[in-house]
Amino acid sequence: MDCLFCKIAAGEIPSTKVYEDETVLAFKDINPMAPVHILVIPKEHIADSAADITPENSATVAHIFEIIAKIAREQGLDNGFRVVTNSGEDALQTVSHIHFHILGGGRLQEKLG
Ligand code: AMP
Ligand code: ZN
Repeated sequence: MDCLFCKIAAGEIPSTKVYEDETVLAFKDINPMAPVHILVIPKEHIADSAADITPENSATVAHIFEIIAKIAREQGLDNGFRVVTNSGEDALQTVSHIHFHILGGGRLQEKLG
């Protein structure tokens, strides 16, 4: 499959790694929208987007959220942060490999949508 985030997970495309374990990879977004902007992905292409979360893959999603909390602590986002997952065309999703944006490090925009 020609998937950018599968290639990043496989190390075929370089990324600035923030966290890695057997199932999850977190790396800096190449076009940061906040002082801290990190993407958290499952290494395996378990879903294109949040629209494809099922009982079969939701344990990995739960694990991703544990890692998000850990990364937020490590990045010093004690005053708050936002987790965003764009799903589909209306949300302007550009990479069809489920991923979660961690945004923080300063006061974020009030407007979400
Ligand atoms: P989305 O628009 O929600 O699908 O998010 C995709 C994100 O991937 C965007 O915020 C991009 O800036 C980011 N991105 C695209 N290519 C790379 C890359 N090679 N390394 C890191 N982040 C990337
Ligand atoms: Zn993929």
